[in-house]
Parts: sequence; C-alpha cells; structure tokens
Amino acid sequence: MYRNIYVESEVLRYHRVKEILARYTDASVVTCDRYTEIFNLKSQDFRLQKKQPALILARKHRGYIQQAPAGYGVGGDHNFYFSTMMNCLYDCRYCFLQGMYRSANHVVFVNYEDFSSALLKTAARFEKDEQVWFFSGYDCDSLALEPVLSMADFFIETVSSSQNVWLELRTKSTQIRSLLKRTPLPNIVTAFSFTPTAISEQIEHQVPGVEKRLAAMLRLQEQGWSVGLRFDPLIYSHNFREQYQDLFNLLFLSLNPDLIHSISIGVFRLPKDFYKQLERLYPDDSFIAQPFNSRNGQVSYPLNIELEMKSWCYKQIQEHIEKNKIFFAEISVPDSIPATSISLKSELDVRNVN
Ligand code: SF4
Repeated sequence: MYRNIYVESEVLRYHRVKEILARYTDASVVTCDRYTEIFNLKSQDFRLQKKQPALILARKHRGYIQQAPAGYGVGGDHNFYFSTMMNCLYDCRYCFLQGMYRSANHVVFVNYEDFSSALLKTAARFEKDEQVWFFSGYDCDSLALEPVLSMADFFIETVSSSQNVWLELRTKSTQIRSLLKRTPLPNIVTAFSFTPTAISEQIEHQVPGVEKRLAAMLRLQEQGWSVGLRFDPLIYSHNFREQYQDLFNLLFLSLNPDLIHSISIGVFRLPKDFYKQLERLYPDDSFIAQPFNSRNGQVSYPLNIELEMKSWCYKQIQEHIEKNKIFFAEISVPDSIPATSISLKSELDVRNVN
C-alpha cells in the first residue's frame, strides 16, 4: 500500500523497522535525519496526500505519555493518552487530524519500548487500588494498521501483568487478530466508534461498514474480551432519531451487555482553527458546509441540537445498559443558554454526575 517510505537514519537498524520495510519491497525508501523535514513541510496538499500517503518511520524523543483532556475518560481515576502514530488510514470528514496536521502522511514512532517504560513509570505514581487509564487511538486508529505495526499487540503485553493499569484501544477497524490470539485480559477495552450506517457511508470514507465492525466486536466478546461503544461524534441529520434508534437496536440486541465495558457519547465538535482548515480543504463538502455554531472556541451544532441529541441518545441507551456505564465525552454547556434548552441542560447536568 505504501509507495514511498521515509526512515530516520537513527531507526534504520531497528528490528521493527526492518520487519515493516520487508512488507513493502516495491516501495521507494528514503532516509532522512528527522521526520519533521517531511511531515512539517509548508505548502503540502493534504487532500492529495490522503489518497496516497507516505509512511514515515521515526523515533520519538520525549512526551511519550500525555495527560488526557478534562472530561476524557470512562470511569477511571487517572487518564492519559499516547500516540505511536500520527494520522490515519481512514478518511472521516469530521476528523480533527485534518485540521491539526499539515500533512496526511503516516508517521509511526517505532520506539515502542520507550512509550512502554514511560507508561509503566506513569502508572507507578498511583496507588494500586486506583484505575490508571491509557488511551491509544487519539491521533490515529489503534488497530487499522495492526497487521503491519503490531502496536496493540505490544502494548497489550505491556499492561498484561498490571491489574490497575487499563488500556483502551479505540478503533473503527476490524483488525482484531492480535487480541484473538491471546487469552482475554480484563484491563483491555477495545472501543469501537459508530455512526449510523447511512452517515458512515457518506462521511467515513474507507472505514469498514457498521455490520463488519459489529461482527468484530462479537468475535471479541465470544472469546471473553470486553468492548466499548463510542458514539462520538454524534452526527446530526433531520431524522437522527430513526437513524440512531436503528443503530442502537442493532448493536444492543446483538452484543452481550455484560461484556460492554462502557459507552461514551459526544456530539461533533472541532476547535475553531481546525474547522477553518477543513473549510479550506473541502469547500464543497456538504457536511463541512452546514450552519454550525461557534462557542467556547469550538465549532459544533447549535446548542439546542447538541443538547437534544445528547439527551435523546442518553435516554435510548439507558434502555439497554446500566447508567453507570454511560459517559459523556465532553460537557460543553455554557451558563447562558437559550430558554428553550434549559430543561435539556438541567437534565444533562444531572446525568453528567452519574
Ligand atoms: S477513524 Fe478516527 S482517526 Fe481515523 S480518520 Fe476517522 S476519525 Fe480520524
């Protein structure tokens, strides 16, 4: 799949790099000093690169583990994230990565061992009875390139003997072989993101279909693995209730509720500057061209729509699953809101503390 691969000369000798390169014997391989020489170039064509991204193999030198933003979590005591990869195989029109990076090329930091040491060192700062969560899939999809990168496999091993250290692999992929070959571990949650089928087909380009993702979840559950459901971002349409109702019915009537670890809900939102970049990249795209609102530095749906979607979805999900498994990915309710939204706001405020 990769025709061009750039490799930092520092990592050329890594066994992991040799294994990755062996998969792309036809690719042109160019060495460089630092990945930033390619990744941060000015005047790159993101849309063009997205069609045929290059792979860049690099070493990260610091900042392996980051504090997760406030409100990011699924019930743990401490939340962190890490990214061994920047950018993604898939092409969701709402993806914030398009606004964050100049380049659509895929950067992989191959020194997993440094991430792993930093992760365990971070976890060791806390008491053994505290849940410390590490989220992967913040700047990429955790499993989409697993057959090439074995990233999930490596980090599952890292946390396998620590009971209070939790790992979330967030994904829209069906590449679950790394998990299926192992005995299930209670502290690993593979969390699948969903939008309704019609929306997914329209704006989640190259992403495996809803049914395929569900089939992957069922295989994991059959083997005893916990899974998560992420309805984040919720995407509005005039018939969102029917669309989400169908999706919830499909998922909740198929999955084993006892092996659903958590569900999170968050409406579409992007930092203003990222959204502006998306407007520049896709001026004719009907999703981007919607009349969004701007508040608290974020672009999102008008507040009444945001509150209505979150409130309605929350109610529907509660029909299927205990309240204590449902989390809101963000709380973006300002103090001054239109009077028509006040009842929804107070409903959500109550629910956010559950
Ligand atoms: S799967 Fe996630 S990371 Fe990948 S393009 Fe879609 S939103 Fe972005």
